[in-house]
Amino acid sequence: MQKNEFVVCNCCGRKFFVQPDKNEMEIVHVEKEWGYFSRKDTTRHIFDLCEECYDKWILEFKIPVEEKESLELL
Ligand SMILES: [Zn+2]
Repeated sequence: MQKNEFVVCNCCGRKFFVQPDKNEMEIVHVEKEWGYFSRKDTTRHIFDLCEECYDKWILEFKIPVEEKESLELL
């Protein structure tokens, strides 16, 4: 990720400026290379979600996401 790059949330379309030292918001970046046996046949999907849209997304999960405490946090 480069300096002063902005990321657009694929879900809500809002723009977020992402700087290496101070993120105004954390962004979820998803990059998935679909394999030969998927119905997408070796295409690559890349999208970004803001934290708000991510939260809405995981609320739809039947099984909640696994939560672990980050050991690297100071
Ligand atoms: Zn969003």
